[in-house]
Amino acid sequence: MSTDTAKTAAVPFDKLRTPRRPDWITEELLGALVSRVPSSTGASWKLTEVYTGEVLVALPQSSPEDVERAAAAGRAAQRAWAATPLTERLAVFKRAHELILRNQHKIADLIQAESGKARRIAFEEVCDPPMVISHYLKRAPKLLKDKKRPGMMPLLSSSIERHPPRGLVGIIAPWNFPFATGLSDAIPALMAGNAVLLKPDNKTALSPMFGIRLLEEAGLPKGLFQVVCGEGPDVGPTLIDNVDYAMFTGSTATGRIIGEQAGRNLIGACLELGGKNPMIVLDDADIDETVGGSMFAVFGNTGQICMHIERIYIPESMYEEFRDKFVAAVEGMRIEAAYAFGPDLGALVSPEHLARVQSHVEDAVAKGATVLTGGKARPDIGPTFFEPTILEGTTKEMLHGVTETFGPVVSLHRYSTLEEAIELANDTDYGLNASVWTTNFKRAQQVAARIESGNVNINDGLATAYASKSTPSGGMKQSGVGARHGDQGLLKYTETQNVATLKKQVMGPQGKQTFDDYAKQMQTSLRWMRKLGIR
Ligand code: NAD
Repeated sequence: MSTDTAKTAAVPFDKLRTPRRPDWITEELLGALVSRVPSSTGASWKLTEVYTGEVLVALPQSSPEDVERAAAAGRAAQRAWAATPLTERLAVFKRAHELILRNQHKIADLIQAESGKARRIAFEEVCDPPMVISHYLKRAPKLLKDKKRPGMMPLLSSSIERHPPRGLVGIIAPWNFPFATGLSDAIPALMAGNAVLLKPDNKTALSPMFGIRLLEEAGLPKGLFQVVCGEGPDVGPTLIDNVDYAMFTGSTATGRIIGEQAGRNLIGACLELGGKNPMIVLDDADIDETVGGSMFAVFGNTGQICMHIERIYIPESMYEEFRDKFVAAVEGMRIEAAYAFGPDLGALVSPEHLARVQSHVEDAVAKGATVLTGGKARPDIGPTFFEPTILEGTTKEMLHGVTETFGPVVSLHRYSTLEEAIELANDTDYGLNASVWTTNFKRAQQVAARIESGNVNINDGLATAYASKSTPSGGMKQSGVGARHGDQGLLKYTETQNVATLKKQVMGPQGKQTFDDYAKQMQTSLRWMRKLGIR
């Protein structure tokens, strides 16, 4: 018997599957991380390790007054930052890019501890901010440069388009990608010369705070990136009342509240919300490749991705083969708690979320759906594990049929014509993401153009669109307003200023010219300017 086996033999069975938290995550480290959260009342929230349910740290909770003070401190730091030359601001992010990659495993450890996700997806999450940094390092100088535009009168006038920062950008982030949504939306805002006030979800506040620490190590001025913590309804309204722009990622229900308040305050808002995302398998698709791709499309991050697939439409002729191969593949997935690569599926984020996912499956079964595989919680693995689940026979009368389950649950549907498939895919209030599988790319483009969704992935579930940082990504219908990535992902954090110069006052009748003559001269000028392409 080897020494290793001898050691494990002494451990009680129920502890065998409990993963060992990485040693570097000490009480001291966590205390230092959360010390940046202002809390004048001393209130705190128990932030737990999802795999075990053990308390990791008492997370300070901010009062509305703490939020106001954090906003004021951010504004004070912003003035000097906005006056810092762009090249110097961007140099901070060049260094941050390297620091994030160098700390990739540590960040993944923290993300796993607070969210319970599998290592693979935690690791991929850490790649997102560096990708955003790379994109905007290249693009920001062009976007933020003053642009000379033609004036009203050729030669006599000119106009300059400027993009000064808005001031203080408020970011409210969800728990499902805490590091990415906490940092990636802040990066273009900071590059543009703003300060940021972030409210992460209480459950997952550690990894974004570690990220801010790395940004500061890279040279970001202290005070520019503020964090407050608390339950959304307690701190959210004060945050929105104190910022110049609201960047929100979360559920459609909360997005509506944020949008209303931003509208009342007459500030801009970008709302990235929920989805009920369809996949259409076309009759020329390669079944094995589609089954392989569906695994991540549906079960990536244990189904807790806003863009993950919850409905799959399969042609009648291919349905049984697809179903059987998909079920077999899913039954081979590894579901486990481990701070290491290996498991395909991690945990759900909390007992409350597990109850929601379970209730969607139970409701579907009670109303006549069939569970092809999965369907059960797995307390033997950890407090919030749930099996990857495939349903058949779901309808719009069921919770899973119409609302976002946001867990490892998908329903399979047959279709007979492509028209029917497109109609079914669009039969939802949401419009965040869709996926089309085919070997005919021209046909795929034609189908994509008819899907009411802000993102369409061809021969992939979700990652290809999200990782295309040059293209704006957002939701149609009730899935959102505005977009992240692309030019608007940075310009939305700026004001637009039009500075126009008139070299000589020539408006109105000149000398003894009558208004009639002036009007005729204007008409002639406008006609010529259009013909010559000047105006
Ligand atoms: P949620 O709306 O409950 O919470 C999101 C954030 O808003 C949290 O920080 C929360 O504390 C805060 N909040 C809650 N109520 C608030 C209020 N009244 N005022 C201000 N802030 C408030 O969403 P969630 O359950 O944390 O996240 C899951 C949802 O997020 C899913 O619907 C998912 O699809 C969506 N999501 C969308 C995207 C996207 O890019 N479209 C990305 C990730 C997640």
